[in-house]
Amino acid sequence: MQIIKNIEEIQAVRKKMRGSVGFVPTMGALHQGHLTLIRKAREENDHVVVSIFVNPTQFLPGEDLDEYPRREEADRKICELAGVDILFMPATDAMYHRDEVTLKAPPYLGYILEGHRRPGHFDGVVQIVMKLFGLMQPTRAYFGRKDAQQLRILKKMAEDLFLPVEIVPVDTVREDDGLALSSRNVYLNPEERERALSISKSLKRASRLVMAGETDAEAIKLAMREIMRGIDVEYIAVVDRDFMPLEKVEIKNTLILVAAKVGKTRLIDNIWL
Ligand code: AMP
Repeated sequence: MQIIKNIEEIQAVRKKMRGSVGFVPTMGALHQGHLTLIRKAREENDHVVVSIFVNPTQFLPGEDLDEYPRREEADRKICELAGVDILFMPATDAMYHRDEVTLKAPPYLGYILEGHRRPGHFDGVVQIVMKLFGLMQPTRAYFGRKDAQQLRILKKMAEDLFLPVEIVPVDTVREDDGLALSSRNVYLNPEERERALSISKSLKRASRLVMAGETDAEAIKLAMREIMRGIDVEYIAVVDRDFMPLEKVEIKNTLILVAAKVGKTRLIDNIWL
């Protein structure tokens, strides 16, 4: 595995690559969720590139940019064992320029739910992913369904800007007890982790209610809120694949999203129905 930190070097290496390139952008502190993306990329491509970059422009003032877990040594080992060809770890300054061209997330999709709670977050996401796509020119890029809104926006970016890349979604990887894996789970103490479980439990409850014939979005949200009464729920949303709110669940076209704070840790999760 080649570890590259320099922009000119990654460009030179990319130029020499023949065949398909599978790309997995991450912010590091790699876990089984990331590993599942990497494995899929390994199966489907001639080359696999992973990037680790804690992107400052997607963090809002007061968020956890400085505390965000950094595990360079462990991440390298994980990538090496997973058969990654190139690990790209640029310095922050190398990725951004002065007075640069900036992209905006879509006016609706980029500013509801996560975008409403974290205004500007998705502007930073599209900016960095576009830069990384420019450098890596991937055939396929892999993103987790755990970040459903991000996935939808990046798919739309590829479509709207006619980018020659296939955006590949990957299902959410969970702990045995249901908790969705996240780099931010390390912030949870045992008592908080226990309370955080109510997020995935509430989504499971929603799924069971729908299977039992309940379609009313408000009734489902109420039942979910009841399960999550021990944590600080920011939103529960029942939307269609374009993130338009639904009053009635439509089977195979419904996404239920949750964001909640457990102690100081902000967690998100979702389920497709
Ligand atoms: P991050 O390092 O948090 O920016 O995540 C990098 C990529 O891994 C994103 O596409 C995430 O959606 C994806 N990812 C994070 N957690 C999970 C998970 N539990 N299951 C599947 N994919 C995930």
